[in-house]
Amino acid sequence: MRIVVIGTGYVGLVTGACLAELGHDITCYDTDAGKIARLQRGEMPIFEPGLEELVKSEVAAGRLSFASGALPLDRRVRAVFVAVGTPPSAIDHSADLSAVHAVAEAIGRAAVRPLAVIVKSTVPVGTGEAVERILRDVRPGIAFDVVSNPEFLREGSALADFRAPDRIVVGTSAKPARRLLADIYRPLTERGAPLVFTERASAEMIKYAANAFLAAKIAFINEIADLCEAADADVEEVSLGMGLDRRIGAAFLRPGPGYGGSCFPKDTEALLAAAQGHGVQLRLVESTVAANEGRKRAMGRRVIRALGEAHGRTIAVLGVTFKAGTDDMRQAPSLPILAALRAAGARLRIFDPEGMAHARSLLPEADYTRSAYECLDGADAALLLTDWPEFAALDLARVKASMRGDVFVDLRNMLSPERLRAAGLRAFGIGRREKL
Ligand code: NAD
Repeated sequence: MRIVVIGTGYVGLVTGACLAELGHDITCYDTDAGKIARLQRGEMPIFEPGLEELVKSEVAAGRLSFASGALPLDRRVRAVFVAVGTPPSAIDHSADLSAVHAVAEAIGRAAVRPLAVIVKSTVPVGTGEAVERILRDVRPGIAFDVVSNPEFLREGSALADFRAPDRIVVGTSAKPARRLLADIYRPLTERGAPLVFTERASAEMIKYAANAFLAAKIAFINEIADLCEAADADVEEVSLGMGLDRRIGAAFLRPGPGYGGSCFPKDTEALLAAAQGHGVQLRLVESTVAANEGRKRAMGRRVIRALGEAHGRTIAVLGVTFKAGTDDMRQAPSLPILAALRAAGARLRIFDPEGMAHARSLLPEADYTRSAYECLDGADAALLLTDWPEFAALDLARVKASMRGDVFVDLRNMLSPERLRAAGLRAFGIGRREKL
């Protein structure tokens, strides 16, 4: 099927490349002409494992192309995916829908035949209806089916998530649109992916409710981690014992410096703003957001306590992206933590396997190194912020020998305190018995 994907970011590019892999004929469109030019030259604008290879092979197979400028909606195009950003608005952190609305207008103006307009962007309940209204106003002569098809992929494992999703949610009551979406996703459903049809408003809500629930799970285990420290329990043991209960599940039960990234912070805030608009109070979501904000500040204080004195100290920062497997630094917990350390007078030396380009622009005062070992060389303290697997494999004897100090703060609990101590390092993790 010939499909146009509008918005070629983390979601749009992965969706376009993976739909091409399913055999569809895909054009990825973006108003950012520079990004499209890079893609046309074979350069990736983002890091996502496996994406570069997939894009290259789908382009070579003739199933994937890129466009900017005029929206390429010819008579053969039957469906348009909308995957533009929905960032937090400056005023009340509600979802800024200006890009989604602009795309609806552009589709209305460019359409030459009836189309399914499939909204993949994360949008509050009622957005599908608004998109439908815009299309009707701009192009009253053409019928559009506006479908909500929220995206659940995770950066870092986006390709695997697309290829084997836990579920595909399709929100529309229009039968032809349901058939069309079933056709688009047939290669996945034939391999066992559940396809869930819902009303459009329910699909829009599912995405926000799912993200708020996962954020709450992280905030919950972080609170338990604080109590573990006070009560001499070990949160790693607690998390394991809780997670094996199938009613709870082990995922998102890892303690850390607080959740970040381009989704959880903005989606929880947008859900609260939407609830406010409906006159409904979401106390659990409010508490989740407040607990997470407080946690990121507390983590800065915690590192300073571990150091004793931050002023003039050199801190080797291992990892700055909001999680492993991505170069994304949007709302990364590293940002407020490192800001607190800088304000306390510490010197920052940073290494991240994929996040260096973004980090350099966001944290220009820091020094940057080409490897973890170079970063640690001569440092007064180490601060592990992102769960990149290569940090778990560090040779700790070599680390100790090259550092000036002996403080190792591991805000992801990647390295066992026993191993750190055996190497002569002072280990500070999360929710463990040793105190800061
Ligand atoms: P992104 O910022 O990486 O990409 C958005 C793209 O849209 C950019 O390339 C931008 O140039 C383009 N764009 C903006 N306005 C446009 C317009 N009018 N016409 C055409 N293109 C336009 O964002 P993302 O991370 O891919 O997220 C996209 C949506 O998907 C958001 O609503 C997000 O909440 C949701 N989502 C993201 C993830 C994730 O892990 N990143 C996961 C699930 C859902």
